[in-house]
Amino acid sequence: MQISTTLVTAPSRVRQATFVALAVCLAAIVAACVIVVAGLTTSFATAPFSPRVEDGHIPEGAAVSVTDDHLPAIGELDPALLGAMRQAATDAAGAGLDLPVTSGWRSVPYQDWLLGVAVETYGSEDVARQFVATPEESSHVTGEAVDIGSVDAQSWLSQHGAEYGLCQVYANEPWHYERLIEPGEVCPDMVPDASSQRGS
Ligand SMILES: [Zn+2]
Repeated sequence: MQISTTLVTAPSRVRQATFVALAVCLAAIVAACVIVVAGLTTSFATAPFSPRVEDGHIPEGAAVSVTDDHLPAIGELDPALLGAMRQAATDAAGAGLDLPVTSGWRSVPYQDWLLGVAVETYGSEDVARQFVATPEESSHVTGEAVDIGSVDAQSWLSQHGAEYGLCQVYANEPWHYERLIEPGEVCPDMVPDASSQRGS
């Protein structure tokens, strides 16, 4: 009787041990998956975007002109705008003036990042939108806008831009120019800010 009990119970202990081992393995696999998924989610949620040259970023203080078309910020500009800006820059240079570019074409992620920074800065999406457009609306993303860096250059363009078809678009952005007209036509009235019409 003693022997038969041992014979009966031994296999069930083996099964129990096997079950426990399998359960431990399964738990380990599930735990590993949870850790991997949590890690991916965290890295996607918090991965800091930093605009690169490939996104059209121009480092602050960099002396970039409309002839630097090896840079995507310049090379990806709309040809009509780029041609007009180059003609203007040539004539401005004849008057001893540079037309430094601080921003031109921008990638969608770059524009999105700029808007996020503006929302943080102003604490309000409505206020941020007065200065930075969404990627869907931005004329920088389509390559149809340039921002000019020096006050002297902005002043020169405000006087002569229309001769090249270049117009200031937003009353609150004296640096932002687009090719809105044919050379020699009259620029349309400015809109108050980027949230009023098309984006900057
Ligand atoms: Zn702009």
